[in-house]
Amino acid sequence: MAFEGLSERLENSFKKLRAKGKLTEADVKEAMREVRLALLEADVNYKVAKEFTNKVTERAIGDDVMENLTPGQMVIKIVNEELTELMGGTESRLSIAKHPPTVLMMCGLQGSGKTTHSGKLALKLKKDGHRPLLVACDVYRPAAIKQLQVVGSQIDVPVFEMGTINPVNIAEEAVKHAKDHGYDYVIIDTAGRLHIDEALMEELQNIRSTVHPNEILLVIDAMTGQDAVNVAKSFNESLGIDGVILTKLDGDTRGGAALSVRAVTGKPIKFVGTGEKLENLEVFHPARMASRILGMGDVLSFIEKAEMALDEKKAAELEKKLAKNKFDFNDLLDQFEQIERMGSLKDTIKMIPGIGKQIKDEDIDERAFDRLRCIIYSMTKQERANPEIINPSRKRRIAAGSGTSIEDVNKLMTQFKQMQKMVKQVGGRKGPKVSKKMRR
Ligand code: GDP
Repeated sequence: MAFEGLSERLENSFKKLRAKGKLTEADVKEAMREVRLALLEADVNYKVAKEFTNKVTERAIGDDVMENLTPGQMVIKIVNEELTELMGGTESRLSIAKHPPTVLMMCGLQGSGKTTHSGKLALKLKKDGHRPLLVACDVYRPAAIKQLQVVGSQIDVPVFEMGTINPVNIAEEAVKHAKDHGYDYVIIDTAGRLHIDEALMEELQNIRSTVHPNEILLVIDAMTGQDAVNVAKSFNESLGIDGVILTKLDGDTRGGAALSVRAVTGKPIKFVGTGEKLENLEVFHPARMASRILGMGDVLSFIEKAEMALDEKKAAELEKKLAKNKFDFNDLLDQFEQIERMGSLKDTIKMIPGIGKQIKDEDIDERAFDRLRCIIYSMTKQERANPEIINPSRKRRIAAGSGTSIEDVNKLMTQFKQMQKMVKQVGGRKGPKVSKKMRR
């Protein structure tokens, strides 16, 4: 998860501040020196880190903070506000064409996650009720068209391709095709290179001046830190971008790119990629991200993730079963799947305020579900649907089949019984309603 080290270091400096009843100017300056070091260590651009801490110091000293009853808390509040501001203040939405289709042009270096994120965006738009069309304009990498087609077929979104002819013509034809066939979004997956070069920029400029995209979205890899920020700067200078999609935030432990992109390029991060699955795309909310960095959790994103992962049909089926007080191992398997669709277990749990800070990564076993699933898969169909028939000899067989121990099976059975009890209580109350909003 991004910002791990940063959160910890900030937490340490804030602890010292909180402990003080009264703050002096020197206390604030010392804390900000620590904050600056923490930011630099998180790979935040040097100038950005310096300006940030200067701003916070100025506000903290100027705002009568020192007279406040809880001055430490006030400084943290200022840091929170300034972090939010640093990342763009409010979230930036995609612009929409007056006359459809809205054209989104995806660009970026090879391997940054362009194709994956073209798919993620298409899926998001589709879930929001739109009809997106994906367009294969990476005509140089032999497997690129195929890769986009695979992504398209996974989410049931059509892919427009014309082989390896001039990408400018493909983009132009794709927009016509979208108009003729009622697609309201066109997502153009352009070619990347290992490094920025003139030929690439020229091609992108040609596509831009031919199809006039509503949004030029630059895809950058968070794990490459300041390099990603430099790439963003160059693309913005040569091509002009409207926003950034910051990918692989799940694998980035430092978070420097997320914090510097806006200040260095003047362009906002619009989305972040948080995993390899096509569901793992989040709208970038600066305020929520700031709270996450400061270890205050992010309950809104947690709820949104849960909503995204919710499979309507399965939820309705579960609702019916709960109403009849029925909950078996098949339902439990479904629940595992839904939780896993929310992305990495670690990242998801850390969004819950108050919990994130208490739980260390090593406490979370990402593979716990696999083990439980293995046990459940070793049950017969009949046992899964009627857990009450699982007697000691069946347990022995299940443990042997799943390569676990009788204790493991017993533990699962006990937990499962507790769940059933809870389900009975909920079911008894006429069955829980999954709200319309949750189903979206
Ligand atoms: P492209 O060359 O820019 O089109 O990049 P791809 O879309 O092919 O992605 C490159 C690799 O990064 C693939 O293995 C993707 O699965 C992976 N990837 C893309 N986005 C993410 C993300 O948000 N998180 C993680 N962990 N991996 C990602």
